[in-house]
Amino acid sequence: MGSDEPPTSPDNVHHSVSAHEVVLLLGTDPHHGLTGAEASRRLKRFGPNTLPTAARGGGLRRILRQFHNPLIYVLIAAGVVTAVLGEFVDSAVIFGVVLVNAAIGFVQESKAEAALDSLRAMVRTQARVIRDGRVQSVPSEELVPGDLTVLEAGDKVPVDVRLVRLAQLRIDESALTGESMPVVKDEAVLPAAAPVADRRNMAYSGTLVTAGSGAGVAVATGPETELGQIHRLVGAAETLATPLTRKLARFSKVLTVVILALAAVTFGIGLLRGQEVVGTFTAAVALAVGAIPEGLPAAVTITLAIGVTRMARRRAVVRRLPAIETLGSTTVVCSDKTGTLTENQMTVRTVWTADGQFTVTGAGYAPDGELRDGQGAAVTAAASQALCWSLLAGAGCNDAQLHREGDEWVLIGDPTEAAMLVVAAKAGLDHHEVTTGYPRMGTVPFSSERQYMATLHEEPNSGGRVALVKGGVERIIALCRTQMGADGANRRLDVDAVLNAAESLAGQGLRVLATAMSSDVDTDAEHFDEQTLAGGLVLTGLQAMLDPPRSAAAPAVRACHTAGIAVKMITGDHGTTATAIADQLDILGEERDARVLTGADLDALPDERYAEAVDRARVFARVSPEQKLRLVETLQQRGHVVAVTGDGVNDAPALRQANIGIAMSRGGTEVAREAADMALTDDDFATIEAAIEEGRGVFDNLTKFIVWTLPTNLGEGLVVLVAILFGTALPLLPTQILWINMTSAVLLGLMLAFEPKEAGIMRRKPRDPARPLLTGALLVRILLVSALLVAGTWWLFNWERDHGASVAEARTAALNLFVVVEAIYLFSCRSITRSAWRIGLFSNRWIWAGLTLQSIGQVAITYVPAMNRIFDTAPVHADAWLRILVLAAATATVVAVDKRLRRPLLQV
Ligand code: ADP
Ligand code: MG
Repeated sequence: MGSDEPPTSPDNVHHSVSAHEVVLLLGTDPHHGLTGAEASRRLKRFGPNTLPTAARGGGLRRILRQFHNPLIYVLIAAGVVTAVLGEFVDSAVIFGVVLVNAAIGFVQESKAEAALDSLRAMVRTQARVIRDGRVQSVPSEELVPGDLTVLEAGDKVPVDVRLVRLAQLRIDESALTGESMPVVKDEAVLPAAAPVADRRNMAYSGTLVTAGSGAGVAVATGPETELGQIHRLVGAAETLATPLTRKLARFSKVLTVVILALAAVTFGIGLLRGQEVVGTFTAAVALAVGAIPEGLPAAVTITLAIGVTRMARRRAVVRRLPAIETLGSTTVVCSDKTGTLTENQMTVRTVWTADGQFTVTGAGYAPDGELRDGQGAAVTAAASQALCWSLLAGAGCNDAQLHREGDEWVLIGDPTEAAMLVVAAKAGLDHHEVTTGYPRMGTVPFSSERQYMATLHEEPNSGGRVALVKGGVERIIALCRTQMGADGANRRLDVDAVLNAAESLAGQGLRVLATAMSSDVDTDAEHFDEQTLAGGLVLTGLQAMLDPPRSAAAPAVRACHTAGIAVKMITGDHGTTATAIADQLDILGEERDARVLTGADLDALPDERYAEAVDRARVFARVSPEQKLRLVETLQQRGHVVAVTGDGVNDAPALRQANIGIAMSRGGTEVAREAADMALTDDDFATIEAAIEEGRGVFDNLTKFIVWTLPTNLGEGLVVLVAILFGTALPLLPTQILWINMTSAVLLGLMLAFEPKEAGIMRRKPRDPARPLLTGALLVRILLVSALLVAGTWWLFNWERDHGASVAEARTAALNLFVVVEAIYLFSCRSITRSAWRIGLFSNRWIWAGLTLQSIGQVAITYVPAMNRIFDTAPVHADAWLRILVLAAATATVVAVDKRLRRPLLQV
């Protein structure tokens, strides 16, 4: 392996040469991998292992997209016609608006996307590679060609690899080939012409390992991978769309068409009536610009993007945007116990053997503490043969690794297994000595279905073999016929005594595993499997470990209950342990006994009672992944919106089926994360509750914005329509309407997206997803405000005209009235139910910032001569302002009264 020898660039033939040749081609070592130095050299040369993100379209495409919008077409047409008619200032204003609009759209879109991008960076994938002869965990972006990559069930393949070692490796390649059945991999050399889907000796980036394990040499990274090539072709742009944004976009499209037709008809009728062309055209344009709610979809997207960012700050990373909408409607949360409701920090507290029980002191993964016998005397493993063999099984039948980093003990692997290493160490059995003293020859790995793990070892003393087993108590008992005493002699297995002991330990909320051994296994390493174990094992003891509930979990469970959300615990653990933990977390409540179901109970339930029982139950113990999937489906059939957590490969179907699949970022597999809509960066149940709260807040803010913005459009449209009907001068010109829409949407309306969550948001019932966004009461309010706007503007405009004001002055007064009413109404919209005073005038600083800018704008457009020329406005007198303020105050009062009177209708 020489660093001078450049690895050949990937040329897609690695499947057709032997593994040996691939190793040579890529200048790596089949056992030690690359050196760290070589890897960093290659990283510089080949670049990071990431997919190109340019797929969203370059800057130019993005800018052009801002102009692709019916309203902009109308404006451009209007701008051209106005120019032809010789109104160059108006034409310039209209084109200016088009440009400003595009710029704002561009900036907002980029910001929203940047927010999503930074989320993606929060869930970084770690990959395991062998470098310098050691397995290391590195960020998957840092993988380079030639890296010896390790694959395990649950991993997402980080790069394209030529497999060099594998054991029952199965890979789900649907991401690449569309084939949904996992592909069985092998090492055989294939013909060069084999298509990607048939290259069984390769594993491709982005595909998912569903079973087995393997190792391979990275032959392509980043854009060079098969996935990268596809990515380049189709551009898998992440869109900012959700069902709601799509619905709104469709709504505004239909509305646009209707309004354009209306404007065209107005123009036609005006011409037929023989009205002057310029004036009629202006009126038609004013109608179109005023009534089309052009800012709506963008504002909704921005509100969602802000929501996503807020959730991320509370450690919930949304992977699929529609989840935000669904979160607020969640009625049931099905949570894993271990790691989500509990810390997943296991400590063995008690070791039980047939001839006595030992208590263990010390907490955490540090081997500081001792074992004490019934009399309270400190003992070592030598005190009892049964104890010794139980600890040996715990330490030997174990894949976890603990090492010291400074003062901390760092764990790689399963906390359950780590606890067993620690208790063995406390009794004087060092892990290293166990693994070298009893070299492992074969493994039956742990899985959630099997619920136990077994290993085959060489026995140094006798030269024979010994099997070590640990797992769920019922499972292990079923494999045993005898039990070991303190003297090492075997006696008949006393099932009742073992079960009683296990039950009383589990009743304290401890997770109980049984250990067993066999010294006469009649098999070699190849044939070591479940069959060889059946019936011939000797039970050595029980180890009971504490996994404390997370401190934030109990309050979060209570918050969910107040919010009308049921919390259900789903676990592979024993029913008694699960019940004890559930009690500590207040999950069970009254009717406790009817609320705990085990996997066996579920199977025994007749179909007609199944759904009802599942709906009532709060704890599901010893549940398999298939049962979990059926639980989710059943709850959904009963009308629930279900959020489900999961961490294993087999949880993926349930995560996909759920309305909101939730994966863990710290623990858990990449497969689960891939299937989920959301990931928790701290794996904590409390974060789910926080995300639901944020989801409700986002939905509120969307509603608020829509309730605020629609009256403006409706009001503007109606003002113009009324003027056209009566054949009078327009109270607002198209350029003035553009001014109102452009400034107020950005400076006032958007600030609602920053509105903090309302108090009591988690005391409401979940939102029914079938309910429309705008309920009757809100629609009435929108119509009311529109009507008040039209009436006020109409009255003011005519009053000013009748009392000697010029048209320009009267229009300026109308324009200012419009904006002042919008500004006051904005405060009302800050809460859907409560009055503007109740929520505190200053609880959203953004509103005041926007208000200040808007005021400066209004003063400028009213009093700065240049602005007067551009927008055809004129300075208004102080007494006109008085009328504006009185009218606005009157409007605000009517709206406040309406809100007050109809509060019961608004309550959600
Ligand atoms: P949970 O839902 O709590 O994560 P698991 O599926 O991990 O449950 O575990 C279910 C049962 O399998 C446990 O109660 C325990 O008896 C057994 N078990 C868990 N981890 C291991 C392991 N590493 N080796 C052997 N048995 C295990
Ligand atoms: Mg587990």
